[in-house]
Amino acid sequence: MARQVDTSEIFKHPVHCFRCDEAIYFTLREIAEDETLTCPVCATDINLSDDGYKPLVASVRDTIRSFSQPSLAA
Ligand SMILES: [Zn+2]
Repeated sequence: MARQVDTSEIFKHPVHCFRCDEAIYFTLREIAEDETLTCPVCATDINLSDDGYKPLVASVRDTIRSFSQPSLAA
């Protein structure tokens, strides 16, 4: 029974909310898969398809990919 922990649902990464000017932590999976996040502080939608968030989303997706690549020594 392998212990399967989905790291992308545990690790969090800050997303900057431009309205309240705070870094809000969301899970990697939320950042990678959701198009919009809602800031829990000011309830503003954070539109991740916005150009300003593209580098962040790309880097989070890279991180998830690196988690989910088991070392297949084949
Ligand atoms: Zn906010």
